[in-house]
Amino acid sequence: MSQETTLILFKPDAIASARVGQVLSRFEAAGLKVRGIKMLQFGDALLREHYAHIASKPFFPEVVQFMQKTPVVALALSGDNVVARVRDLLGPTDSKKAAKGTIRGDFGVDVMVNVCHASDSLETAAAELKRFFRPEELFQY
Ligand code: ADP
Repeated sequence: MSQETTLILFKPDAIASARVGQVLSRFEAAGLKVRGIKMLQFGDALLREHYAHIASKPFFPEVVQFMQKTPVVALALSGDNVVARVRDLLGPTDSKKAAKGTIRGDFGVDVMVNVCHASDSLETAAAELKRFFRPEELFQY
């Protein structure tokens, strides 16, 4: 992709509380552009690959259970400095520490139930976009 693009996952709490549209509106209102979007159910293998960096943590089984509660929505989002801008819009991982006005501050519950996943760097984003989207599912327009 020529523009900086990141990977967002709307987690099961966002799906169950029907907040995908509301959260997506915030990204769009910030001038970020949707490049690809799909719904999928996490299988064990994909989930273990996606969360390999936390696989040894004591809370990992809980994350696995939570992330499979409902399908998730994967979103490819682009814009200048998109990784940092998305993480600013979301607020910190722990929703309890997130300021009101941020997505997690307004809709998140705690450190696990925190509305969205977002890539933490452009390098991670490139790998994560490949994990969830085939090249022909990402659009330039
Ligand atoms: P982020 O998703 O914000 O990049 P991490 O990569 O550190 O954060 O963690 C990945 C995911 O693991 C978090 O989004 C959250 O769902 C879960 N997680 C992190 N820390 C905890 C914790 N202490 N207890 C439960 N779940 C956690």
